[in-house]
Amino acid sequence: MQENIIIAGKCTSAQAPVSWQQQLSQAIRDPNALCKRLGLSDQWLAGAHAGHLQFDICVPEAYLARIKANNPDDPLLRQVLPISDEMLTPHGYVTDPLEEADHLPVKGLIHKYANRVLLIASPNCAINCRYCFRRHFPYSDNSPSRAQWQEALDYLRGNTSIHEAILSGGDPLAANDRQLSWLVEQLESIPHLKRLRIHTRLPVVIPDRVDNDLLGWLSSTRLQKVVVLHINHANEIDQAVMDACTRLKQAGATLLNQSVLLRGVNDDVATLETLSERLFEAGVLPYYLHVLDPVQGAAHFNVPDDEARTLVTQLRDHLPGFLMPRLVREVPGRGSKTPL
Ligand SMILES: *Cc1c(COP(=O)(O)O)cnc(C)c1O
Ligand code: SF4
Repeated sequence: MQENIIIAGKCTSAQAPVSWQQQLSQAIRDPNALCKRLGLSDQWLAGAHAGHLQFDICVPEAYLARIKANNPDDPLLRQVLPISDEMLTPHGYVTDPLEEADHLPVKGLIHKYANRVLLIASPNCAINCRYCFRRHFPYSDNSPSRAQWQEALDYLRGNTSIHEAILSGGDPLAANDRQLSWLVEQLESIPHLKRLRIHTRLPVVIPDRVDNDLLGWLSSTRLQKVVVLHINHANEIDQAVMDACTRLKQAGATLLNQSVLLRGVNDDVATLETLSERLFEAGVLPYYLHVLDPVQGAAHFNVPDDEARTLVTQLRDHLPGFLMPRLVREVPGRGSKTPL
């Protein structure tokens, strides 16, 4: 008898574990299922349905398993459960807060900062974070086919000032390893490129994403490798995430983390301190702490600038300098992130 009982994305039988693709396809994408699974009362359903219509719910089991049931204030739940506040439309909250549509010289390539470009390697994510500045981004227009990649690669070849390619998205690791290893091979053939950076939340959401196929192309590239994770709360870092970080480091990657400062998730000193400590235990250094981009539907997550500065000033009294993230905002038109 072969019976597979799925717990947190793993089979308990001796068979191969469920692949990351299967885990992704089995993610919860339904408001009723999410509320029922987490023991939330019916009062949350209307908001969940309304938000879901704007930006789909998507939560894989491996992440869900880190959310405590029967607690609407759980800091991980707040990142993935739409609530009725998403329907608010305060002044200044817009659909393209970063005005990225103006910086696409070639399909799938954003060149705003000197010496580095951002490549949209996959339009998809493994999780839909409610505060995401891309919740209204026209992804379908910006996920190049292989033929279209040639244009982006030609742009890179022709710009000898570019030393770093940043794979972004969506989540670049939502693309399959065949596509990614092809892309990285193309990139490493460009002599002036030194670094490959990967901005991803997938190793956090589905740690099994860091499998041998990924580690194969990552460890064999001549490019220096930086993986920038996206973790907002220490509860996101369980043993499986720690192990995934270890594998990425063994493949030669430097690990950094960016967080978003979010009301009700990580907007207090103790939570930010614990996050930095836990990141370091996982072999990851804090990089940026972003203030929220003013995207429509996410205003309820905002922490005002003055409060953000005070928090970070207080945090500095609790942490060594190397565990302090840089508090920044993205201002459209600027050539770098702007410190607060
Ligand atoms: C954030 C960002 C980068 C990377 O900026 P760093 O400060 O180097 O981390 C590059 N390009 C774009 C368009 C960005 O938004
Ligand atoms: S993983 Fe990143 S890009 Fe994807 S929804 Fe979350 S914040 Fe946005």
